[in-house]
Amino acid sequence: MTSGKLTPMMQQYYALKRKYPDALLLFQMGDFFECFEKDAEILSQVLGIALTSRGKNNKTPLAGIPIHSLDQYLPKLLTAGYKVAICEQLEDPVAGKLVKRGVTRIVTPGTATEESFLQKGENNYLATLFVNSRKKQLHAGLAVVDVSTGEFFTEHFSSTTEKELLEQIISELNKFSPTEILLPDYEASNLISRLCRKLELKIKEEIAEVIIYRLPTSNFAKESAESQLLRKFELHTIEGLGYQQEPETIQAAGALLGYIESLNPHLIGNLRRPIKLTQKDFLILDTATQKNLELMKNLYDGTTEGTLFSVLNKTVTPMGQRLLKKWILRPLVKKEHIEERLNIVESLKKDFLFLNEVRERLKHIADIERLITKINQGTGTPRDLISLEQSLQACKMFKELLQQSPAAESFHSFYQLIDKKEINEIITTISNSISPTAPNTLKDGNVIKDGFNKTLDELRELVAHSKEIIAKTEIEERLRTGVKNLKIGYNKVFGYYIEITKAALKQAKIPDDYIRKQTLVNAERFISPKLKELEEKILTANEKMIALETELFHEIRTKIGSHIELIQQVASHIAQLDVLASFAYLAEEYHYVRPIIDESTTIEIKEGRHPVVEILQADKEFVPNDIYLDTEKEQIAIITGPNMSGKSTFIRQVALITLLAQMGSFVPATYARIGIIDQLFTRLGASDRLAAGQSTFMVEMVETARILNSATDRSLIILDEVGRGTSTYDGLSLAWAIVEFIHDHIRAKTLFATHYHQLADLEDELERVVNYHIKVQELESEVIFTHKVARGSIDRSFGIYVAKIAGIPMPVIMRAKEVQKSLEESSRLADQSIIPKRKQLTLFDVLQNKNQNAPTATETTLKVDPALLKERELIKKLQNIDVYNITPIEALNELAKLQEEAKKLEK
Ligand code: ADP
Repeated sequence: MTSGKLTPMMQQYYALKRKYPDALLLFQMGDFFECFEKDAEILSQVLGIALTSRGKNNKTPLAGIPIHSLDQYLPKLLTAGYKVAICEQLEDPVAGKLVKRGVTRIVTPGTATEESFLQKGENNYLATLFVNSRKKQLHAGLAVVDVSTGEFFTEHFSSTTEKELLEQIISELNKFSPTEILLPDYEASNLISRLCRKLELKIKEEIAEVIIYRLPTSNFAKESAESQLLRKFELHTIEGLGYQQEPETIQAAGALLGYIESLNPHLIGNLRRPIKLTQKDFLILDTATQKNLELMKNLYDGTTEGTLFSVLNKTVTPMGQRLLKKWILRPLVKKEHIEERLNIVESLKKDFLFLNEVRERLKHIADIERLITKINQGTGTPRDLISLEQSLQACKMFKELLQQSPAAESFHSFYQLIDKKEINEIITTISNSISPTAPNTLKDGNVIKDGFNKTLDELRELVAHSKEIIAKTEIEERLRTGVKNLKIGYNKVFGYYIEITKAALKQAKIPDDYIRKQTLVNAERFISPKLKELEEKILTANEKMIALETELFHEIRTKIGSHIELIQQVASHIAQLDVLASFAYLAEEYHYVRPIIDESTTIEIKEGRHPVVEILQADKEFVPNDIYLDTEKEQIAIITGPNMSGKSTFIRQVALITLLAQMGSFVPATYARIGIIDQLFTRLGASDRLAAGQSTFMVEMVETARILNSATDRSLIILDEVGRGTSTYDGLSLAWAIVEFIHDHIRAKTLFATHYHQLADLEDELERVVNYHIKVQELESEVIFTHKVARGSIDRSFGIYVAKIAGIPMPVIMRAKEVQKSLEESSRLADQSIIPKRKQLTLFDVLQNKNQNAPTATETTLKVDPALLKERELIKKLQNIDVYNITPIEALNELAKLQEEAKKLEK
């Protein structure tokens, strides 16, 4: 703070700044918003504008932006993560008096409604979390809103372990991908505060570019949270919202409302009643699965390119696009809900011309969900009202179109809604009052239609005729003075004036009522009482006209804004229709079929394709493949095949087809029968994704552990090269044991892609394991990856071939082939499986064994033939040969030694 005495204005500034210490305070000074001190430095840095200074010794840093550029600059400040308090002059300035100022609103990234900040097809979510421990369990309440659309969701989580609770929260938060999250500010060092801290770290790690604010714990107090909710939704008891068992949800939701209200009370008005999301209503997709399947973001650069969303998105409205995102991340689990969507997609798909017409018409419907929010919050412009009216008209026409369609029956509730008399009232109110050519602002008038208000029409008349009136007066004055070139002019300083040139002045008869006002080089300027009277009329008419237009407009806007719920319902129908039309279009364009949905435990797909890969590689024919899985006979499919043969593509396509089906979409196949699954898990071995402080293998194992702990016999598990992140022995043993465990104890349908061809032996060991492989055609000089999946296994990896096409120099390839040959010779000796028979002891038994610290299961807990151990040693030696750093002679010597040992073993 500057030393010495502060000016009254600076005192006012500091008083406000003390009230909003964590916000960037934009302080209105006339036509500018100014920032001082640290705020000025931030403003200048973020916006790249000049930093100046003011005050006695020019010591206070200062930076400012013109008021009219706020829209342009605010998004930049929000994107940079700042909370911005907007302090405006609350009265017209009077010379010599300190003008009253106050903070009219605070904008944060999660509560911004500025169009320039919001992304059209994306929600802008603000989330609040509250955690607690009661009844020997940990609980969390999540409340999420989008103030720009009025959507409000809540969700509740419970678990006995911190780890599980955090995973549940993060996987749901990831679906919302909020811009701002509010957490309670725990000071105490207890279980809950530690959990909050962990949660904060995890959020920072998992959710990109999110801003976290901490709110005082008092904001989450149960009583005040509850009364916030009751007041907002005009309820007598909280039961109405269904949160009896969820005090944490009430606390999160109440704190959220309180926070929004403290920033800007207008933002509360449009919030709808919260929708309670329950995990059991949707297919559970954990965080790793959302990422691995590249549903919304790709693993490569985090954009939407190459994602399922990018392929599915054929929506034509921003509302549809936002809904599609929700549907992708929350596929359904109830047959009737899925069928409802599929029925509409089917009927829309029947008539392609009709479908195109539907999509064309949808394009004429504006983002009414966000429009009505603006209108309700009092920031809607005249053009927003026109846009709403035109969109509602389009909805009416749309209804007529739908009624003639094969799908006519499906849209009954839409017809009822659009036929409501309130919709007609909104349309007529706007069309009767707002001029179709109204500008976007109120400052120049021309907003209200002629004929809507009598007083306004009279004022307009006066203003419009002012030119004529002035011209008439000019002629009259010319006659009175005898000056033919007398002119009536206007300037801002003294309004209308009469101007007579010096030359004419000599002969002029200057009337008595003329008052000399200004002398110029060539002319003299006068005013007269009559002229002043006229001026008063004309000028006040203009002012009055603008004031009246503004008043009328505000009245109309408030009236229309009060219909927010109805418009939100229309918006929601339009969004659904847009997504379903998008599904139908996709199905037609890419030849998708309607899946058969049932409650069996079977997944059967014929000629399935990967929805994204088939489109991305348009130049290459995609090879379709079949799969059959159930929990009775063919529960686990082990897919072996060389690298690059298409294993990952195949197993992911099964997952994506299942997801699409449960989303209510048609699927890329010629036939699909999907027994509804409850959870989908996808794990990748050794990817290039590194979680902070953990090795890829650790990540891989943590994620796999989660599957083994949460999957059920209704789940689908996709494992891609799991176990690859460690040494061959560890990896193979783990993979083996994981499959056994899923087979014996979980019974989830599983697809396991691996290059460990030894895993194929499991088919003989376990009842419900089936082998698949990707067929490879070997020609004389090349290997062709057919990408065709077939029964049975493959025991060759073609790694050298892949190295060759990757451009490894020929001498290396030739040498590798030599070494491979000799290695293969020796390995034939170790061909016998060394894996202990499950009949002796399953890995599950080992896990259950009390003596868990024993060195290794095979060596101590099991009685193992010593010959097997020797064999294993031999294999180890073979493995340790560094084939790339060994001369042919050394290789031969090594080989001879190994052979010697192998012969001994035979004996
Ligand atoms: P893997 O997991 O066996 O290493 P991928 O599934 O990554 O192999 O597939 C390698 C490449 O092969 C993919 O990028 C894709 O271009 C192509 N491919 C995979 N499956 C098919 C298919 N069914 N039809 C056509 N091309 C395919």
